[in-house]
Amino acid sequence: MGGTFDPIHHGHLVAASEVAARYELDEVVFVPTGQPTFKLDQRVTHAEHRYLMTVIATASNPRFTVSRVDVDRAGVTYTVDTLRDLTTARPDVDLYFITGADAIEQILRWKDAEEVFRMAQFVAVTRPEHHLSIAGLPEDRVSELQVPALAISSTDIRIRAAAGHPVWYLVPDGVVQYIAKHGLYREQDDE
Ligand code: ATP
Ligand code: MG
Repeated sequence: MGGTFDPIHHGHLVAASEVAARYELDEVVFVPTGQPTFKLDQRVTHAEHRYLMTVIATASNPRFTVSRVDVDRAGVTYTVDTLRDLTTARPDVDLYFITGADAIEQILRWKDAEEVFRMAQFVAVTRPEHHLSIAGLPEDRVSELQVPALAISSTDIRIRAAAGHPVWYLVPDGVVQYIAKHGLYREQDDE
């Protein structure tokens, strides 16, 4: 499952759990992006913080792991490189790339879109305000899965943290504590 995870929240975790159950996946590998392609104009929290919060959030689930492939690769993250690296590390697995419908819709603009679709099956998870428009996507390689509606976004969590409002129960407890410990998402200070 790819994402910026700035920070990871229960919407991501519910989506991953739901897809894993539905597709009978052995493992869900969370892959925090390096510099996200579609967020070049935004400030994104240092990759190491996003990686560690993802580790904390997933640690208690034996089927959830976290990969550093995107965090460790220099430059902008392209999904084609993510899939190549994951395939190289484990050549014998069937890959399902899980992400939100909003991200899947950008797919045709992704670098090497054809190769991307060859390397993995895509699962678009949809939340309340997003619905997948399949037009232009290869139907046999992309499927949509409605996950239990959790109206949580990382943007909302960052805004809440900056305003000093609680983020308890929107993200796992360890992530609440990590955000506080490192003073993340305070105004003008997201290091
Ligand atoms: P931001 O608000 O910063 O864009 P986000 O909450 O969308 O953050 P991302 O890291 O961008 O989080 O999410 C990775 C993927 O997970 C995205 O494709 C997004 O659509 C999906 N996603 C995010 N929140 C939810 C949710 N509550 N339910 C289902 N999918 C979600
Ligand atoms: Mg998003």
